Amino acid sequence: MLGPVILAASRSDRMRRLVSAAPVTKQVVDRFIPGETVDEIVPIIEDLTAKGLELTMDVVGEDITTPEQATAARDAYLLLVERIKDLGLGTRVEMSVKLSMFGQALPGGHELALANVRPVVEAAAAIGTTVTLDAEDHTTLDSMFAIHDELRKDFPQTGCVIQAYLFRTEADARRLAENGSRVRLVKGAYKEPAEVAYQQKHEIDKAYVRVLRTLMEGEGYPMVGSHDPRLISIAQELAHQAGRKLDEYEFQMLYGIRGDEHLRLAAEGHRMRVYTAYGTDWYGYFMRRLAEKPANLRFFVRSMITK
Ligand code: FAD
Repeated sequence: MLGPVILAASRSDRMRRLVSAAPVTKQVVDRFIPGETVDEIVPIIEDLTAKGLELTMDVVGEDITTPEQATAARDAYLLLVERIKDLGLGTRVEMSVKLSMFGQALPGGHELALANVRPVVEAAAAIGTTVTLDAEDHTTLDSMFAIHDELRKDFPQTGCVIQAYLFRTEADARRLAENGSRVRLVKGAYKEPAEVAYQQKHEIDKAYVRVLRTLMEGEGYPMVGSHDPRLISIAQELAHQAGRKLDEYEFQMLYGIRGDEHLRLAAEGHRMRVYTAYGTDWYGYFMRRLAEKPANLRFFVRSMITK
């Protein structure tokens, strides 16, 4: 019940101002977004990679309103790539980007987002790593997949995300599995209407398994983005049935969620990639994490009251 309310609040400017100004917010936010600047995030990158984990880095931000903000987003990622290069971690750390942060929703946004993301993909490739295009709400996806196809002409390693809750995803998965793409499968984190998406958890979980089977049996590289213990076991089974070796798929989880499980899977020999977000524009990302688990909201509210 609470999840949809929190997701609606994640798009409200009034709530953004209120939550961002609350004095205790930062402590709670830090659990999911452990830094605001590239200097603050470098020690986290060093620590996690030293523990045998791979990373995908997200500079938080979305729904920007000017082309200058899109350019600033591009530059923030280029700075990050420079730092990953200096750390010598190009093969262990990739980037995740939201095209809305690169200008996708502005006038001429499709071309603008492509023009802004391309230099980041080029810079990533030059240091031996790659970029994955995150999936945002369903109205943005045709543009995201078209940009993904365009980037893959020169950089075939570029990945994308598909969301099990959308009805369209089974067809998207078949196409991507055939053309050999890197694909992260997630359940989906946005508030979507019943015309386009499953609403019940059991329906979403069943769709996740169907789509995952398609990816595992296909030609691409599946990235299993979930913290759900049941889906993680099913993924291992499906990979085994499809004859995939441990380096022919990977698990991905979010920083701050089930950290013990990250280490357990890595210790079992799996490639385990932690999606690690940083930056100052954390509101939308943070609210989606609250919506996924209402206990997080109770903790947040309690810390505001007891402070
Ligand atoms: P759930 O059934 O939601 O959770 C399973 C268990 O995990 C829960 O019981 C709980 O123990 C734990 N858990 C899950 N979420 C939380 C939380 N917030 N706080 C504390 N515990 C939690 N969504 C998109 O729409 N687009 C994307 O591009 C995208 N990228 C992602 C990248 C990665 C690497 C991951 C892991 C998720 C991404 N998501 C994205 C979010 C995803 O869609 C889900 O909202 C999120 O992963 C929760 O679903 P779940 O599969 O973990 O299963």
